[in-house]
Amino acid sequence: MNLGNCPRCGKLYVLNVMECCPSCVKDIEQQYVDCVEYLRKERGANIQELSEETGVSIKQITRFIKEGRISVVDSPNLTYPCEVCGTFIREGHMCDGCRARLTKDLNGAAREVGQGDGRSLGEGAYRAIDKSGRS
Ligand SMILES: [Zn+2]
Ligand SMILES: [Zn+2]
Repeated sequence: MNLGNCPRCGKLYVLNVMECCPSCVKDIEQQYVDCVEYLRKERGANIQELSEETGVSIKQITRFIKEGRISVVDSPNLTYPCEVCGTFIREGHMCDGCRARLTKDLNGAAREVGQGDGRSLGEGAYRAIDKSGRS
C-alpha cells in the first residue's frame, strides 16, 4: 500500500489515480457539479464570473476544461489562461503567440540535430502541439 500526502489538503492517503485523497475527490466532484449547473443557467459566463459565483478556483476550472469535462463550445465566453503568459485562450495549453514561439524553438532544436528542412517539420510540429493541447 502506497501512502502519500494529498497535494490538495495535505492529508495522508492511499495513493490513487485521482492524484488526491478521497475527500478532495468528492470536493472536486461537487465543484464540477456547481460549475456545470452555473453554466447551464449562465451560458454567457466567463471564467472569472464562474469562479466568483461557484467559489471554484480558476485553476480548477481550467483543469475541468482541459480534461474535457466542461465544454467551451457550449459557453461562448468561457476561456482560460495560457499556461505560459496568461492570455485567455479557448483551446490547447497555450496561446497562439506562445505556441508559435515554441514551434520555432522546436524547429531550432530539430535543425541542430539535422532533421529535414525547417518548413515541413514546422508544420508537423505545429500540428503535434495542437493535438496534444486538446487531449
Ligand atoms: Zn485531500
Ligand atoms: Zn501565451
